[in-house]
Amino acid sequence: MAFSSSSLLRLDHIAGKGKGLVAAQSLKAGQVILRESPLIIYSSSPLISTSSPSSLFPYCDHCFRTLPTNTIPCPSCSYHHFCSHKCFSTAFNTFHSSLVCHALSHLKDSESLQQQPYERQVQARFVVAAYNLAIISPSGIHAFLSLHGTPDDTIVEAAKFLHSLISPLFPPSVNISVDLTAQLLAKDRINSFCLMNPYSPDGPQRSIKAYAIYPKASMFNHDCIPNACRFDYVDSADLDDEHNNTDMVIRMIQDLPEGREVCISYFRISRDYCTRKRILMDDYGFSCECDRCKIEANWPHDCQNYVEEYSDLPHVRFIAKYVCDRKNCNGTLAPKDDAHTNVLECNFCGNLKSDTA
Ligand SMILES: [Zn+2]
Ligand SMILES: [Zn+2]
Ligand SMILES: [Zn+2]
Ligand SMILES: [Zn+2]
Repeated sequence: MAFSSSSLLRLDHIAGKGKGLVAAQSLKAGQVILRESPLIIYSSSPLISTSSPSSLFPYCDHCFRTLPTNTIPCPSCSYHHFCSHKCFSTAFNTFHSSLVCHALSHLKDSESLQQQPYERQVQARFVVAAYNLAIISPSGIHAFLSLHGTPDDTIVEAAKFLHSLISPLFPPSVNISVDLTAQLLAKDRINSFCLMNPYSPDGPQRSIKAYAIYPKASMFNHDCIPNACRFDYVDSADLDDEHNNTDMVIRMIQDLPEGREVCISYFRISRDYCTRKRILMDDYGFSCECDRCKIEANWPHDCQNYVEEYSDLPHVRFIAKYVCDRKNCNGTLAPKDDAHTNVLECNFCGNLKSDTA
C-alpha cells in the first residue's frame, strides 16, 4: 500500500514499534492528512431473525445514517434497508451484492449460528463481507491481508466454524481456506474502526453501529497523547458529492515537524492507565511505552483527582484542553481546519469550541 500519492506521510521504521507513519513534511494543527473510504464495512447488529419492526436495525445498510420513515428494503432479502435508491444501487454493486444478500439471508435462518454468542454472529457478517471483497476487489483483499494481525486459538476455532458455515454459500471461485479465514478474522480484530451511534447527551453510553476497515488509517500507531485524531461524518447531512459519509478523515491536533511520527489514540484519551493498559494488551497485543504511560504507571491505583494534583504536567494539560467536556461525550477535540486553529471540533459530538487558552 503506497503512500506515494500523498506527500504528507511516509511509512517508516519506528524504534520499538515496527512500522509507522511519519510526517513527510511539517504538518499544521487542523490539517487533514488522510481521507479514506472503507474497504469493508459491516453492521454490528447480530444476525438474528426477528419479525418485530421495532428491533430492526435503525440505520441504512449502506451509508449507516439513521433511516428515514420511508425506507427502501432490499427487494431480494427485504431484511436490509436503505435510506435511498442511490444507496441501494451503490450497495448492490459493492457491500450488499447479490452474494452478500443471499449469504446473509441464509445465515439469519441458520440454527447453528443462532446458538452462537453475539460476537460470533457479528464475525459472521465480517466473513461474508470479506469473501465478497475477494470477488469484487482482489486488490482490496490483498491490501487487507497485508495488515497486521495473527490468529490465536480462539480465532482459529471461530474460523473453522464460520468457514464451514459460510464458504458453501459462495461460489468455489472465492477460494478462501480455513487458514485464510483465520487470517482475515485476526486482521479485522485489530484493524477495524468502530462507527458509533450518534451522540446523545442523555442517551445510553456510546455504542457501536458498524465496523469498518480503512487500510491506510490502520497504519497509524497508537499514543495515549496523540498528535492526530480521526473524524467521520457518517451522520452529517451536508456533505459534498465528492466524499462518502463513511470516509474516515484524520486531522492533526497539533503542529508536527517533518520526520516525527503521527499517532492517533485507538480509544478515547480520557481513559485511565489501567484500562488503557488492558485494552492495548487484550485487543492489540502490546504494552504502551508512551510518555504518559511511563508517568501514570507510577500513580496511585485509583487516582481520580490527578487533574488537580498534577495539573502542571504536559499530558494533563493536553487532556484538559482536548477532551470534550460535554455531558456523556468524552470525544477528542482538534482544530476545525488549519486556517482557523482557534476553533476546536469534537470528533464525537461535533461540538465547536473556541480555544481560549
Ligand atoms: Zn444510505
Ligand atoms: Zn438483500
Ligand atoms: Zn500510552
Ligand atoms: Zn463532544
